[in-house]
Amino acid sequence: MFNALIIRKDDQQPKPQQQVALEQVDEQQLPEGNVTVQVGWTTMNYKDALAITGASPVVRSFPMVPGIDFAGTVVESRDPAYQKGDQVVLNGWGVGEKHWGGMAGLARVPGDWLVPLQAPFTQKQAMGIGTAGYTAMLCVLALEKQGITPDSGPVLVTGAAGGVGSVAVALLAKLGYQVTAMTGREQEADFLRSLGAAEIISRDGYSQPGRPLNKERWAAAIDVAGGQVLANVCAEMRYRGVVAACGLAAGMDFPATVAPFILRGVTLVGVDSVMAPYADRLQAWQRLAQDLDITALEKVMQEVPLEQVQELAPQLLAGQIRGRLVIPVA
Ligand code: NDP
Repeated sequence: MFNALIIRKDDQQPKPQQQVALEQVDEQQLPEGNVTVQVGWTTMNYKDALAITGASPVVRSFPMVPGIDFAGTVVESRDPAYQKGDQVVLNGWGVGEKHWGGMAGLARVPGDWLVPLQAPFTQKQAMGIGTAGYTAMLCVLALEKQGITPDSGPVLVTGAAGGVGSVAVALLAKLGYQVTAMTGREQEADFLRSLGAAEIISRDGYSQPGRPLNKERWAAAIDVAGGQVLANVCAEMRYRGVVAACGLAAGMDFPATVAPFILRGVTLVGVDSVMAPYADRLQAWQRLAQDLDITALEKVMQEVPLEQVQELAPQLLAGQIRGRLVIPVA
């Protein structure tokens, strides 16, 4: 038996209701998979908060254990790549959405979904970085694949005080880039400077419709906002600039023109972390281990028990939580 946060849905009409509770679960109820992991740490992402509150139909089958990422220790494996005792990390693959996730003492998954925990990270640090940090690294790799280097010029990071943005700022600064951090939270300026941002700009002015082309400012950008913000960022890219887009914090739409692409040769690269192939995941975690100075991020890690997750989920959705929520499970 192990402890698990379980989301259940009844079929009450006209509106089915969702219940969330900590339950004792029998190991036999675990889903299919050839590797069983004792979860050490998980974290609460925006997507997990959506799943737990039911604010958005993230969960595709019930009952469901939320938690789109976890770090843990292999307890049983029929995958030759993993032995009992190996420390592993999982991000995405629909875990916590359609396959039981990390908010439970045990998880069972296909071994192909796992990545070995990279030294020097502890399981707790890996979850402090979480899917947000791993996505930030995928964005940096996407810029590098397009030939961007610190000599290319200044790089803009939107949503800089958020999960993806803060790791992106820290990574780029450590790699020697001149980083401008865009935020809606002036009070986070000191934190952003501590991560290595050279300049802080307000997102006011980026949220309203702008011109198809503006003064050329950025050699590259990592965007978590989408919507009007992304359109305005594209309009400010330098000739042959590269934008890595991974989020929709400002909206799903993209009210832009083709002008930046056809007149300035700007490249817009999409970044998805959920279905990214193994080689990309491994490279991202290896590069995080090499390039991320996690001291500043550790200051904003908040340890919370699994019992408190339900209470914190609505606060996270309301933008009232500062820093990263890491959850000890074992
Ligand atoms: P957070 O909630 O931690 O951060 C989002 C940040 O976006 C906020 O902190 C804020 O930055 C900024 N923001 C909020 N509202 C707006 C707005 N209206 N306009 C512009 N900026 C805004 O989320 P994450 O960093 O974890 O995720 C960021 C985005 O990336 C989300 O949309 C998420 O769904 C997506 N994502 C995508 C992944 C993928 O695989 N493609 C993986 C992980 C996340 P500030 O505080 O600086 O004002």
